[in-house]
Amino acid sequence: MSLRIKKGDTVKIIAGHDKGQTGKVIAVDPETELIKVENLNMVSRHHKARTAQEQSDIIKTEGNIHISNVMLVCPSCEKTTRIETMEADGKKHRKCKKCGFDIDAKKAEKKDTKKRASKTASQDKTEKTEKTSSRVKRTRKSDAAKTE
Ligand SMILES: [Zn+2]
Repeated sequence: MSLRIKKGDTVKIIAGHDKGQTGKVIAVDPETELIKVENLNMVSRHHKARTAQEQSDIIKTEGNIHISNVMLVCPSCEKTTRIETMEADGKKHRKCKKCGFDIDAKKAEKKDTKKRASKTASQDKTEKTEKTSSRVKRTRKSDAAKTE
């Protein structure tokens, strides 16, 4: 469940072909502990044409990297760091061991501002066409505010 790397994190690759490079995590498999990092560890997938209509080609795609081969990069101090887990609001938060920055707190804030921005932009439309659905959204939001 609680992997130290999550989707959207910035990580530095510490082993293999792209050693030393940093990138954004685009996929995490908690079972195998394999991740994919945007534009890094690219592998070629050879696609063989199976029908006359298909074309054989080589597709470049992100290959799996085991989480032990990456280090988390702290969004605050921008250093590779180990994490400390702590409880905040009943949830597990990851904290940078070097600067003490709450990595998961920052993400939550980012998501909130995005939601707010999109809400104001599409407010006129939703108010007219989706009155019921926007009402549902609002109640959900207020529920979340209470739990926070
Ligand atoms: Zn830090």
